[in-house]
Amino acid sequence: MMRFLKEITKDVLAITCYYTGITRLFELVGNRNHGLGLAILAYHRVVDSDDPTASLSLPGIKVSGENFKRQIQWLASKWHVLPLEEAIEQLTENKNLPERACAITFDDGWSDNFTAAYPILKENDVPATIFLATDFLNSNRLHWPEQLIRDLRLLGRESQESFKVEGIALPLTQDFSSEKPEAEQLVQTLLGLPESDRMTVIDRARDEASRLNGTEPLPRTSLSYDEIREMSAAGIRFGSHTVTHRILTQCDEQGLDEELRNSREAVQSLIGTGEVGFAYPNGDFNARVREQTSKTGYAFAVTMIPGVNRPGADPFALRRINIHDGTCTNAFGRFSKCRFACEITGFFDWLFRG
Ligand SMILES: [Zn+2]
Repeated sequence: MMRFLKEITKDVLAITCYYTGITRLFELVGNRNHGLGLAILAYHRVVDSDDPTASLSLPGIKVSGENFKRQIQWLASKWHVLPLEEAIEQLTENKNLPERACAITFDDGWSDNFTAAYPILKENDVPATIFLATDFLNSNRLHWPEQLIRDLRLLGRESQESFKVEGIALPLTQDFSSEKPEAEQLVQTLLGLPESDRMTVIDRARDEASRLNGTEPLPRTSLSYDEIREMSAAGIRFGSHTVTHRILTQCDEQGLDEELRNSREAVQSLIGTGEVGFAYPNGDFNARVREQTSKTGYAFAVTMIPGVNRPGADPFALRRINIHDGTCTNAFGRFSKCRFACEITGFFDWLFRG
C-alpha cells in the first residue's frame, strides 16, 4: 500500500511538472548554465513476464517489449537519438550537440536485444550500442544472479529449509523468483562481498542444485555470434563489457588487464572495426580502473552514475540513466511518458537524490 501511494505521488508530480512545463524549464536552465547535454540511457533486457527466463533477472534490468516500444517511439518523435560514439565525440570536443540529445545503450549482450529490441529499433530507425560480456556469447552460460536464482528455485522444490554459506542464509522456496524482495537483497549482499566469498556462495548453490534429478536444460539468454553480426551489418554498434563480467575494482593488475584487453579483441574480431567503447560492469570503477581502460585503447567508458553529461565531461566516466519498467510506468503499471521524461531529463534524480 505504501509503495502504491508513493508511486501515485510520483505520478501526480510527473504529470504536473511535465504539463506545466517545469521539466522543460529544468532542461532549459541546465542547458543555459552547463551547455547542451547528452542523456545516455542504459538498458539490459527487453523481456516480457511470460518469457521463462524473465523470472531469473532482477526487476532493475528488465523492460517489457510494450514499454520499450512506447519509449523508443516517444524518443524518436521528441528527442534526437544519436549513435553513442558520435554523440560522445561531439560532447567531448565541445561541438554543438542538438537539444535533447540522447543515446541508447544495452549492457551484457542479452539475446532478447536481438529478438525483442532490435526489431523496434529498426522500425523506428533508432541507433543503439550494445556492450558485450564476451565469454557469455554464443553459449548457455548464465550471469551469476540468474544462475543463483535458478539454483535456489530448483533447491526450493526439494527442500524448504534454507542453508547457510559464508554466514549468508540462502532463501529456499518453491517459487523463488527475481521479483521477490529477498532476491534483490541477496544479490546486493553478495555484490558487497569480496569476489572469492561471493563465488563460494554461488558455487555451493550450483553444486547442490546440480545433484538434483531432473535439472531443467539451460535456455540461451545471451546473443549468438550470428545475431551480433546481423545487427552489426545493419548499423547497431558494439562495445565491450569485459570477458566474464568481473567487478573491475576487485581485480588485481593481471585480471584487470585480461578483462579489458581480451574482451576488446573479442569484440573487434566479431565486428571488425577499430575503435570500441567500454561499459564498467555494475558501473564500478576507480582511478586505477579508469586509467587502465584508457591505456588499453578504448575510445570511452560509461558508468552507472546517474545524470546527463555536459560539455567537458570525462570520456572515461560518462553518466548513464538506468531504464527499467519502474522508471517508465505509472502506479498502475502502464507506460507514462511523463514519468519517463522526468527520469531521462535527470529531473527526478535532481529532485529526489539531489
Ligand atoms: Zn552488466
